[in-house]
Amino acid sequence: MHQLGAADEPYCECGEPESVENFLLQCENYTRERKTLFTNLYNGLGIRPTDVTKRLLLTTTTNTDDPGHGTANR
Ligand SMILES: [Zn+2]
Repeated sequence: MHQLGAADEPYCECGEPESVENFLLQCENYTRERKTLFTNLYNGLGIRPTDVTKRLLLTTTTNTDDPGHGTANR
């Protein structure tokens, strides 16, 4: 079984490590998907794309390392 954080393909096709950051900010392979994703998110949230919102998205999607919290329920 696969645990969280153990990816079958640790590297993306673009050569960068497969990660949320790569997908959201770096990867050229996902430019179209990323644009669509962000457009939908911003339309749904009623906000405009900025560095701040990108940081918020990254923060909410990369919280696997959360020292002091998140392990008590297991
Ligand atoms: Zn990539």
